Amino acid sequence: MEGWKVQDGGQNGRLMDDGESRTKRGPKPWTRYPEMPKLTPRFDALAAAKGWTPDGRGDAAPAMRTMDIEAIFGENTFGIAEMRARLPKPIYKALLSTLRQSTPLDATVADAVAMAMKEWALEKGATHFTHWFQPLTGSTAEKHDSFITPNVGGGAVAEFSGKELIQGEPDASSFPSGGLRATFEARGYTAWDPTSPAFIVETPAGCYLSIPTAFASWTGDALDQKIPLLRSVAALEKQATRALALFGGDDGRVMATCGPEQEFFLIDQEFYYRRPDLMTTGRTLFGAKPPRGQELEDHYFGSIPDRVLAFMIDVERELYRLGVPVKTRHNEVAPGQFEMAPIYENANLAADHQQLMMIVLQKSARKHGLVCLLHEKPFAGVNGSGKHLNWSMGTDSQNLLEPGDTPHQNMQFLFFCTAVLRAVERHQDLIRAAVAYAGNDHRLGANEAPPAIISVFLGDQLTDVFEQIEKSGTATSSKSGGLMGLGTDVLPHIPQHAGDRNRTSPFAFTGNKFEFRALGASQSVSFPATVLNTIVAESIDELCTELDGELKGGARFEDALAALIAREIRRVKRIVFNGDGYSDDWHREAEARGLLNLPNTLEAVPALASDKNKALFERYGVLSPREMESREEVVFETYFKTVNIEGETTAEIASTMILPAAVHYLNDLLAASERAGSIGLEATGVKRIIEQVNGLTNELSEGLSALVEQNEELGGDSVHSKAHHMRDHVIPAMTAVRAAADKLEKILPDTYWPLPRYREMLFVK
Ligand code: ADP
Ligand code: MG
Repeated sequence: MEGWKVQDGGQNGRLMDDGESRTKRGPKPWTRYPEMPKLTPRFDALAAAKGWTPDGRGDAAPAMRTMDIEAIFGENTFGIAEMRARLPKPIYKALLSTLRQSTPLDATVADAVAMAMKEWALEKGATHFTHWFQPLTGSTAEKHDSFITPNVGGGAVAEFSGKELIQGEPDASSFPSGGLRATFEARGYTAWDPTSPAFIVETPAGCYLSIPTAFASWTGDALDQKIPLLRSVAALEKQATRALALFGGDDGRVMATCGPEQEFFLIDQEFYYRRPDLMTTGRTLFGAKPPRGQELEDHYFGSIPDRVLAFMIDVERELYRLGVPVKTRHNEVAPGQFEMAPIYENANLAADHQQLMMIVLQKSARKHGLVCLLHEKPFAGVNGSGKHLNWSMGTDSQNLLEPGDTPHQNMQFLFFCTAVLRAVERHQDLIRAAVAYAGNDHRLGANEAPPAIISVFLGDQLTDVFEQIEKSGTATSSKSGGLMGLGTDVLPHIPQHAGDRNRTSPFAFTGNKFEFRALGASQSVSFPATVLNTIVAESIDELCTELDGELKGGARFEDALAALIAREIRRVKRIVFNGDGYSDDWHREAEARGLLNLPNTLEAVPALASDKNKALFERYGVLSPREMESREEVVFETYFKTVNIEGETTAEIASTMILPAAVHYLNDLLAASERAGSIGLEATGVKRIIEQVNGLTNELSEGLSALVEQNEELGGDSVHSKAHHMRDHVIPAMTAVRAAADKLEKILPDTYWPLPRYREMLFVK
């Protein structure tokens, strides 16, 4: 209860109060249930959650704070403006050319930048710096060093050299490497990424300078998310620039762009503290479905509760100061679920900013007595949380997936759009593998959005365009009005915006970008973006090579292009699906079309190490076969550990909290029945409940022994066999325990039930 207080002292008085003053009655509020004080700590939680006030004094909300976005935006980043102001001109120019043209950085530049960065950080009050990196855990890591260097006079000065800026050396042995690094080769290196601005992290106790870096083993293998992402960005840039040149365009670098939408749940932290499952695994392992979930569909886009809005505004303020262009906020479908999203940026920056967003969301929630849950499925029975990765490619002056309004650009659009369709069709397996991990199994392939089958939504009008091209090689009409002309007979009219939407599609064209919707809420966007960049680079490359061949043979560019698009569409059209992705019909049809349906992690992830995909990633210099194999292994290992921890937590809660509560109730029922008998009463009602509770207690106890047994059996020596043991034996055993416990929850009296219930966690704000 740190940092905020409750109005009534927090001791369950609210719920159990019988009118007597608590001070008179002393510390024993449980007069009606004197034998039960320990089993209902959730009443404390409810009282505390209900009594929450923003300032801890029970007053109305403090005076409104205003925010000057322009003044604060980026104030905690060492960005271009700060560099221009602080660096000598030649140094600034050299750095700029590293940032803009990727020219290698030399040591004198690094020294000068380090000096300026240190000065700036000290002015901001920083005492330490850290290389901030993204190991294969999915989150970020940092190791702090102070700027302090003792001097001969017994004092100390703040120092920070170019070498310290460019390279760090954390012990790599504690991070997942998937067999890339033996424990005795513990060395790992972090390397400064000058394209992502350093920033200041503020805490109430002090602040530090955080420097975005890449992370590799001493053998040079990538151990992080950033290295392959940067390599894939370069591969896409190369191929897309080549294609643009065919269209006669020349306007600078092509960047992959990403705009990730983040969904999350918020619950009062009092409930969180009383749910060991949430604290240990990020999701509830127990919990009966409440009478009301999201059935009324009244939460989505509803007005945001004041407390939540205060939290969101805090998040936005912090993110603006860190230069993250966060833009939208709204309620999501499930009760207690919300979404925030930034404006898109280049893929590397967007990925770093996405990590910062997750960190700021979690930190800020605590200031409001809330906990932000980023797990994919914190609550069964209501929607899970995803992350939509909006993806496109463009130069400073144009978005290559914008249909545009000139004929020239529209043909270009159809080319790039075809390249994406082709890439998705050929590499469904990789796209699916990029979002495969234990948490996301609760969404994909589990009757929830989106399905595990990868398909592309194009919208009616664009589909119509492609269908005409497919059938006759040309298309001359469009389905409906409000369209723009393409100015050439071989191509049809197309809509400026694909107006309709389809929430069930895992990969949807949404007007001027594709929205990859299968990412889980807690996931880094880096690898999914890496996959998209790489597979689209390959398609553009191969299509360009074909076009080059036709042109050499004397074909007219427009004819060759139209023929190419028609041919490709015929080849890949099975990937296009505009209908309901949840329906059984789609499952049958997808099977008939030969599309992959990989319902869980263990079926999806081996694709990372397939020959096709190793060759693809190697060809574009994104990941070596060794690095791909290591990543596959890390996913298996993480899956095994995640489920193993969930299994043990399930067993622990069942045996130390739920079973005792059931036994306690049973005991009281038996006592009641016995007393009734002693005065000759026929207590049939009590006896019926005794039978129910006893039956469920037996069921729970049997399930529990089976689960304990499965948890102890690890399933072999390899991470692969262990992971399969988890999926095939531990998860079903956990499900059985939960089923019995959830039934008990529905019949145990409120005063006996030890865990905050769904209806409390989801609706008390
Ligand atoms: P929607 O409501 O369809 O999801 P929004 O306009 O809210 O659409 O955009 C969702 C996300 O898509 C935002 O983060 C936005 O910045 C991003 N986005 C828009 N254009 C692009 C683009 N060209 N490349 C990548 N992301 C983009
Ligand atoms: Mg969206």
